[in-house]
Amino acid sequence: MDSRHLSNCSICGGELEYLFSGEEFSCFYCGKKESGNIICASYEAHYVCDECHNLPSICYIKDFILSTGIKDPLDIVFEILNNSPVSIPMLGCHHAYMLTGSILASLRNNGLAVISDSDINEAFARLSSQAVGGYCGLSGVCGIVPAGGIIYSILTGSVCGKDKEQRITMRLTALLSAAIFELTGPSCCKAYLFKSMEIMLRSLYSDFGFRLTERDFDVKCGFEKLHPHGCLLERCPYYKGATVTLEELYRKNTEILENVTLPPVLVNAKKSPDPFKDFPKAPC
Ligand SMILES: [Zn+2]
Ligand SMILES: [Zn+2]
Repeated sequence: MDSRHLSNCSICGGELEYLFSGEEFSCFYCGKKESGNIICASYEAHYVCDECHNLPSICYIKDFILSTGIKDPLDIVFEILNNSPVSIPMLGCHHAYMLTGSILASLRNNGLAVISDSDINEAFARLSSQAVGGYCGLSGVCGIVPAGGIIYSILTGSVCGKDKEQRITMRLTALLSAAIFELTGPSCCKAYLFKSMEIMLRSLYSDFGFRLTERDFDVKCGFEKLHPHGCLLERCPYYKGATVTLEELYRKNTEILENVTLPPVLVNAKKSPDPFKDFPKAPC
């Protein structure tokens, strides 16, 4: 497979067309008929449903997350991006699964929280409802936003009807949405993933005292040639490489919404960090 298939139509490598209104198409692979908004612009008009577009990479990501012992979430992400035996398309919601999976695996592998295989399965099931290809443009909500929120909901036991658990989860999704907004125009799933990783590392420390890495957050993308809509190049912080020092990463505040204060929220921590060490065990 040449790189055009990673950037464009996975069948012929042709450019994709993003439709304003959904039309009924049959998936090239599974034959499912559904309303879709992304189609190959060639005369053959290939259509691939989101499930078939993402399934091989998501299956691989899930297996990798369930079995890896890697502790640093950025190492997990780059191991998947660089060494996956299945092709990882340049754009698509598998990036949301990489965020959720790498952070949950890192929490587990660092012994910071009780994250079971069923928690990871549950997180991925939730993502399948809210991370949908192309909806960054169609609704303004990129799948990476719920990907971060799901991590907090798994940690805090947030469900509809809960109070502070839902507030802290929603504060995080507001942070993620605001941060990726700054990078938008056009969308880049890689940039959104990298920025969201940084926000997650900052927030998990700021909110719960969790340190998922002990080195500077250093990201150089390297995928710019694969972007079908054009990489922002110098306008993207990850094109030449961006570094957030460990000290900056673990500064005890978040830059956006820093005036929004919340009461302490209980997490299912294995080793409860200060200041929550005396909290009773979470019911989740
Ligand atoms: Zn095609
Ligand atoms: Zn399909």
